[in-house]
Amino acid sequence: MSSPAAYAAAQKQPQSKKILFRFCSECSNLLFPKEDKENHKLLFACRTCAFTEDAPSSCVMRHEIASSVGDTAGITQDVATDPTLPRTQQPCPACGENEAVFFQSQQRTADTGMRLYYVCSACGNVWQ
Ligand SMILES: [Zn+2]
Ligand SMILES: [Zn+2]
Repeated sequence: MSSPAAYAAAQKQPQSKKILFRFCSECSNLLFPKEDKENHKLLFACRTCAFTEDAPSSCVMRHEIASSVGDTAGITQDVATDPTLPRTQQPCPACGENEAVFFQSQQRTADTGMRLYYVCSACGNVWQ
């Protein structure tokens, strides 16, 4: 005997899209998605050091990246306009805008603890 109600519930997908943040295990800076064109796969790369890691093979993430390959502005702009994230008055070092979204590092390492990151609401620049 099948249960139509249980089947329907299993088919239901949450509508909210989640942006996944990855952080460098070397220096704890934000990692940016990067396409490995030779191997046709997605990597996360640190802009501060040479650290890279394979991205988890998530369809959602692949879709997110597909629209902004080679340009991380799409990702950070999504963050900057996310109404669920808290805002603060922090001057952007790149463009001087005085409003930024901030969030905490989800990676708790012994030396960095819970680090705060700011994303400029105007240009999507990320800084600490
Ligand atoms: Zn790094
Ligand atoms: Zn800015």
